[in-house]
Amino acid sequence: MEHPENAPDYAGLTVNEGVAQPPIVNPYLQRRGRRKPLPETSVLVEGILKGDVTTLARAVTLVESTSPEHYARAQEVIEKCLPYSGGARRIGITGVPGAGKSTSIDVFGLHVLRDPKARLAVLAIDPSSEISRGSILGDKTRMEKLSIHPNAFIRPSPSAGSLGGVARRTRETIVLCEAAGFNNIFVETVGVGQSETAVHSMVDFFLLIQIAGGGDELQGIKRGIMEMADGIVINKADGDNIQRAQLAQAQYRSALQLFPPSPSGWKPEVLTYSGYFELGIDEVWDMIDRYFAYVDGNGYFDQRRRQQARYWMYETIDEQLKNHFYNDPDIAARLAVLDRDVQSNRRSPFLAARDVLTNYFNLYSK
Ligand code: GDP
Repeated sequence: MEHPENAPDYAGLTVNEGVAQPPIVNPYLQRRGRRKPLPETSVLVEGILKGDVTTLARAVTLVESTSPEHYARAQEVIEKCLPYSGGARRIGITGVPGAGKSTSIDVFGLHVLRDPKARLAVLAIDPSSEISRGSILGDKTRMEKLSIHPNAFIRPSPSAGSLGGVARRTRETIVLCEAAGFNNIFVETVGVGQSETAVHSMVDFFLLIQIAGGGDELQGIKRGIMEMADGIVINKADGDNIQRAQLAQAQYRSALQLFPPSPSGWKPEVLTYSGYFELGIDEVWDMIDRYFAYVDGNGYFDQRRRQQARYWMYETIDEQLKNHFYNDPDIAARLAVLDRDVQSNRRSPFLAARDVLTNYFNLYSK
């Protein structure tokens, strides 16, 4: 373009050539293939056994997938990894939102990883993620130091399906992580619902994180959760909160005395600490070490693992049976009718259930 400023007799500033407008669409962009091919079982298993974290992450994605094809492949991988699993200390960590789980896991994790041979996987069971479509637990950004540690693997909660399904996927992920050489597993969950039972059924030690409240701390916690705990730790014992934390400690201690003895023979301990200021971490970990020594010694460790394996067999059967039943189109159609009949009192719930179950059994009795 002609600019009067560029004429030889013009004494002011000249105008430089501009740069052509680049195309809006990146010309180098190539359409990606429709779908990545499913990796071979043997490739996945080899990668996992070598401790390759990228392969591990891929396998975990298959475990979490709802596609039947992925599910089948994941099951093959798990089956092959099973002989190499079982070698980790599995620790469940629960506490209400705000109790300081992520702060504490960051600190506990680094404590474990001081041993150069230690590798830590942090998994989560978050029943709320199904509703909120985003995990509030096990999020990388919540554990700042661990998330950049080369020996740590952090995986948020699987989000698809029922609590049982979510828990089963986490249980299967433990197998893969152990086969990949992770010798410490933390399973985090929110201490508000039934997810504790699921976590309890897949860990060796169950740690309950509490905070001191206004003197009535015992009210908010379900008795069942306390009964499951192998250790109760009261967080935020720092600054002017120390006394309150100690008071809570005394209350928990006396409450625990009313509980029946635990099947392991271990007496759950109550400690105070501060995750944020990193006070009392050694003591918490010393308790966990003592627990493992104790249950190794009296055989309870193996007994609990055997019971858990049994539990997961029945859980999986339950889950698969239900899926098979509810996903059957004939059953779904029949149920829709019965549902209305039961609601409008035209049929009793028991007869309706018998009706649809008879239907189902007849369908599959050949
Ligand atoms: P989560 O929801 O259980 O994972 O809890 P977070 O770890 O996110 O902690 C909730 C809040 O409590 C954050 O603001 C933390 O900074 C704070 N917090 C965590 N641990 C401590 C602690 O030991 N002392 C104090 N004073 N605050 C803490």
